[in-house]
Amino acid sequence: MSAPFSFCDLATTGVQGLRPYEPGKPLSELERDYGVRDAIKLASNENPLGPSPAAQEAARGALGDIARYPDGNGFELKRAIATRFGVEITGITLGNGSNDVLEIIARAFLAPGVTSVFSQHAFAVYPIVTQAIGAMARVVPAHTGERGQRYGHDLDAMAAAVNDKTRVVFIANPNNPTGTWLRKDELEAFLVRMPKTVIVVLDEAYVEYVTEADYPDSIPWLLRFPNLIITRTFSKAYGLAGLRVGFALSHPQVADVLNRVRQPFNVNILAMTAATAALGDRAHLEASLKLNQAGLAQWVEATAEMGLSFIPSVGNFICLDVGRAAAPVYELLLREGVIVRPVANYGLPNHLRITLGLAQENRRAISALRKVLA
Ligand SMILES: *Cc1c(COP(=O)(O)O)cnc(C)c1O
Repeated sequence: MSAPFSFCDLATTGVQGLRPYEPGKPLSELERDYGVRDAIKLASNENPLGPSPAAQEAARGALGDIARYPDGNGFELKRAIATRFGVEITGITLGNGSNDVLEIIARAFLAPGVTSVFSQHAFAVYPIVTQAIGAMARVVPAHTGERGQRYGHDLDAMAAAVNDKTRVVFIANPNNPTGTWLRKDELEAFLVRMPKTVIVVLDEAYVEYVTEADYPDSIPWLLRFPNLIITRTFSKAYGLAGLRVGFALSHPQVADVLNRVRQPFNVNILAMTAATAALGDRAHLEASLKLNQAGLAQWVEATAEMGLSFIPSVGNFICLDVGRAAAPVYELLLREGVIVRPVANYGLPNHLRITLGLAQENRRAISALRKVLA
């Protein structure tokens, strides 16, 4: 008897080795499945203040245009990005979220027989885009704490893992889910060491939140390192996760390559209009960053009182060590109406990733955590 047929057998080897990305549980699902009312979600690093009012108004204003295809070149948004960050418009690639950009990069530069290099505990999308294309992922053990931030990317080990088969290196700075970050000096030294034939993707999804003095301003590096791609997003500090807008900054030749692979009209009219307005709303961004600092202070105090620790984070989330298997703690928190993110799939079975929320959301999550850990 032959084994029963499965369509999974027809999938490419790389795809067979993948598991679907597990998003944070949506509030509606918790309410449906657990009958919990008034739940809070601190699971997907969304902006607890919501979208900028200017962005909402701009999106509403664009509703009458949605019978038309969007501007496939995204001119208005690209112009706003170019002005804001002081870059050439020809070096900008827009994406349907920065995940789209990461996938475009993989499709442009990866193939069976070549590899991408990234760190253990790094963002889950890097293995997905690598294996889906049939390329091999080389996962480099993270720092253990002796030579760099525990759980953080070990750039020396990553550089050592790069060989003539490597086409892309993915670096998240800060990293999700750990919240760890890389200093300017170490990252610059890494870029200097990289052959020009290796694309270095610097994923800066949380750049706006970082206040550390030794954190790099990476944009000037674009002129020195033509193999550098910086990715950014409107999903986090700009509060537009539901619209899906991200972008890459690179050498114009690299942008030209990415543009060949990009789906026409990959970013929709509402998203581009809202993102352009969000970029102009500095007050909302400032308020979001200030709220994040206050939230971090709240969690620092509460976790110290509870005798718990989290990985030092410069993002809008913390990765909390609950001191035991985190899965049951996650389940109990759901029953309290608090959605956080288990990160066992990132090799962190005792941690929960918690997005910094509004003061009252943090209070509620902290008291639920005290209850379920008691
Ligand atoms: C959230 C996140 C992204 C952004 O994803 P979008 O597709 O832009 O919503 C990218 N990289 C990392 C590390 C993230 O955590």
